[in-house]
Amino acid sequence: MTRLYDDPATFTEDMVTGFVAAHPSYVRQVPGGVVRAKRPRQGKVAVVTGGGSGHYPAFCGVVGPGFADGSVIGNVFTSPSADDAYSVGRAVDRGAGVVFSFGNYAGDNMNFGLAVERLERDGIRAHNVVVTDDVASAPAAEQNKRRGVVGDFVVFKIASAAAEEGYDFDEVVRVAEHANARTRSLGVAFDGCTLPGQDKPLFEVPEGRMGLGLGIHGEPGVSEREMPSASELAKILVDGLLAEAPETGSRRVTAILNGLGATKYEELFVVWGTVSRLLAEAGVEVVAPEVGELVTSLDMAGCSLTLTWLDDELERLWQAPADTPAYRKGNVELAAADAAVEDEELPELPEKVAVVAPPEGQATAATVVQGLRAIADLLHDKEEELGRLDAIAGDGDHGRGMTRGSAAAIEAAEEAAKQGVGPAAVLVAAGDAWAAKAGGTSGVLWGAALRSFGDLLPDHRAALPGDLVAGASAALAAVQRLGRAELGDKTLVDALVPFVEALRSEVDGGASGREAWARAAEVATDAAAKTADLRPRTGRARPLAERSVGTPDPGATSLALALTRIGEVLAGDRKDEQK
Ligand code: ADP
Ligand code: MG
Repeated sequence: MTRLYDDPATFTEDMVTGFVAAHPSYVRQVPGGVVRAKRPRQGKVAVVTGGGSGHYPAFCGVVGPGFADGSVIGNVFTSPSADDAYSVGRAVDRGAGVVFSFGNYAGDNMNFGLAVERLERDGIRAHNVVVTDDVASAPAAEQNKRRGVVGDFVVFKIASAAAEEGYDFDEVVRVAEHANARTRSLGVAFDGCTLPGQDKPLFEVPEGRMGLGLGIHGEPGVSEREMPSASELAKILVDGLLAEAPETGSRRVTAILNGLGATKYEELFVVWGTVSRLLAEAGVEVVAPEVGELVTSLDMAGCSLTLTWLDDELERLWQAPADTPAYRKGNVELAAADAAVEDEELPELPEKVAVVAPPEGQATAATVVQGLRAIADLLHDKEEELGRLDAIAGDGDHGRGMTRGSAAAIEAAEEAAKQGVGPAAVLVAAGDAWAAKAGGTSGVLWGAALRSFGDLLPDHRAALPGDLVAGASAALAAVQRLGRAELGDKTLVDALVPFVEALRSEVDGGASGREAWARAAEVATDAAAKTADLRPRTGRARPLAERSVGTPDPGATSLALALTRIGEVLAGDRKDEQK
């Protein structure tokens, strides 16, 4: 159980408040996360960790000299938003760029990906190093699909030490990717974990059984078996990882035997006794291992073993001193720490200035607001239905996410429109609010789609049918760039591609914007219905793909509903004009 909280809805914020109050000499809070209390020297590459919370000491516990410059903090087991990552990135940049590193999850990839794009637009170099160490989550041939688990800790540590030593941007990225390529983890669970405010665990392992290869958010494991003894478990973990050893020729590893939250240090030491003997018998030398809790999963019972095959460079960086709230190593009489500046003001986020648009732009903006209002009302009504669709093979949150996202979007859009801005600025405000508030994959994609659509709507003249085609194409491009889904993967892309194609051919054939939109929305509706025949090949529904056959994809369904509703708004608009 997670027993202590005031309000489950503010659990993460309340946790961060207490964390910062406990460690003022190490960290200070910024929107979206924390950064070092003392700013490092100018010219140092910044390394930022992050992800959902619920994994302490990962990730905010390792901010300090020798380790991370900042940490982006999402809600429990939930990706932080692009805004969060961007804000932390801005705060830590010292003119040499920002390297984000995090475990491989769709939401994190998309949100950190968007943050990188925004930082680069500001002239700040940025790059994502995605950790993929969990051998149970995909076969060796598809290492880039593997989840990131405790390997995060090794990769962050090594990248951070490199930045502290003075490596330049490209070299920090290189060594972080090198460390990831040589890192493997395998985990087991004996019991699930419970989110704050919930009375049932996210998953359960039957009494006397053990789940092998579960994810750190309770993702299903590869197999279940009888509970082993400590030394049997040590053998399962060591054999499992040695079978997956990267081809390096190295016989030296560092190791982490990690407790997931409800497995005690004493138990871990009992297991470690056998792990270290087995590794020695296999001719593998262990350098500076860690046994303890480094990446937890709330109160999950279980543990994992991580091995990183070292070379001289990786060993030196792993051994380098670090001084952070949760992790201290060696003697940090760092030159870097001496040069660090205490109490220096952090840079302000660039102010969003409202550029007042000419009347034509304001008129288009008003139509956009009307459309967003109509979508928010519609999605509010459809919340339960969309949730039910998503519960069949996904996690059931699609209705809730779409309602929250669209409600936040219309609020932000109305606020922006009041200041007299054009359609692009209204859609940027709406998209960012949608992505920040919705949670879930679809929220990030909708946020990016609205932003990209808006970029192509003019401020200085009325929107033409061709602008709608250009906007819709840009929205599709953003969705595919971020989500990497192809046609047939059973996602909202299966409704959006036919929509954009139909819109284009209608406009090319001379239809007005509203006629073209209405007909394209019909095409999208048909296409969304046809996704019932498909098996999901990406996203949260992938592991339960078979179960989803016969049910249309929730994201494609909600998209088709929204597109149809916008078509009605455009048509209604015309009636008003004729009056
Ligand atoms: P989550 O899957 O994170 O719980 P939602 O439930 O809100 O998010 O949204 C699920 C929908 O998101 C799916 O039905 C699918 O249409 C869409 N989706 C998931 N992954 C992708 C992707 N990579 N590209 C495009 N759409 C996706
Ligand atoms: Mg979902």
